[in-house]
Amino acid sequence: MKILGKFSFGTGDRFGMQGRAQLEAVAEAAKWGTEIIPVWNKSFREHSIVGTTPEDTRTEADDAVKALGWQGAYFVDADHINLSNVDAFMPWSDFFTMDVANAIGKPVSPEETEAFIADNATPDGVIALPGMDRPIPADETYLRHFAGQYLNAIREASGIYQHIAAGKDPETFVVEVSMDEVDTPQSPADLYFILKLLAGQGIPVQTIAPRFSGRFNKGVDYVGDLKKFEQEFEQDLIVLSYARAHFDLPDSLKLSIHSGSDKFSIYPVMGRLVRKYDQGLHVKTAGTTWLEELIGLALSGPEALEMVKEIYTEGLRRMDELTAPYAEVIDIDRSALPAPEEFDKWEGDQIAATLRHIPGNARFNPHVRQLMHVAYKLAAERGEEYLSLVRKNERTIAPQVKENLLERHLQRLLGRE
Ligand SMILES: [Zn+2]
Repeated sequence: MKILGKFSFGTGDRFGMQGRAQLEAVAEAAKWGTEIIPVWNKSFREHSIVGTTPEDTRTEADDAVKALGWQGAYFVDADHINLSNVDAFMPWSDFFTMDVANAIGKPVSPEETEAFIADNATPDGVIALPGMDRPIPADETYLRHFAGQYLNAIREASGIYQHIAAGKDPETFVVEVSMDEVDTPQSPADLYFILKLLAGQGIPVQTIAPRFSGRFNKGVDYVGDLKKFEQEFEQDLIVLSYARAHFDLPDSLKLSIHSGSDKFSIYPVMGRLVRKYDQGLHVKTAGTTWLEELIGLALSGPEALEMVKEIYTEGLRRMDELTAPYAEVIDIDRSALPAPEEFDKWEGDQIAATLRHIPGNARFNPHVRQLMHVAYKLAAERGEEYLSLVRKNERTIAPQVKENLLERHLQRLLGRE
């Protein structure tokens, strides 16, 4: 099995043009003494909307690594794949995020449910894990509910894993299981049984992405009860420590945080707790590099600025269409969006400050940022017109990309501020 390493950072990149700037940020952070493994992640959904292929992501990563002479490990993540679309990723990816969210809550046979209950029920109806606030329930009511929610998802994970392993040497890739794109969070108890069953299926899962409490909206900070998140995250880490020691799972097993970009308020919490339990972490950023491209373009003179304004105006007009695929992870207050006539009058630096995620800056507008985050489809529709502007203004754009990852993300995650 290919081992991922303790701290890894998923760098999404819609248009695949910022690999080098992203790697520069990771290389710079490595100088602080913590090894960070860069992972270029892109989902089938993103590829379809942008019109790129899994091979493009591989090329981006390899080119960046070559250009900078990066000696460390790096990966290319087939993000959120399932049986219907994994094949196109097989030759190019060495990290597979098996998304089983759609298989959650679908029933399995009564025999399977009864067998699961018989295998796992304990005489006193609980399992006490050292360090947990309260024991894991193991009574019939809980187990029956769990079975109805997750047994089918475990079977789905097994099917996807077997399919990948039949076409690719299992020694050559990393496996993640994601369940984040659902309404109901998984509790630490759910996580315990999910990991136990994944181990039972022989799936060497190294990263697991549960749905946490609170909202992980795209491109903006965490919204929710920080205390509750902290408690849940800590209990999850205790479950993971136990699972690594007692289930047949890799020692490198760790949590994966999806839509992890910009979740500034929970970074110190996660950082402190993973250090307390000596665990690793994978943080997946959700393509906010594209917003840095927009910020760079806004600062690159009239032609590029005009493109940003056009994308905003069109984004407003097509907001319903653009936000539909992201309904679960977007919260836009329409009354907080400036009218197109107003936006049109702004200078580049005002647009940059509106988009750039600096909490406390009076000009930062999270609603404009979220709208623009999902408006990448509009840039994709412009094709070469957009790409050539990005290429032409790389000198202004690349520092934005690097600074965002290094100073707003990696510094906070690694407790360097
Ligand atoms: Zn996800």
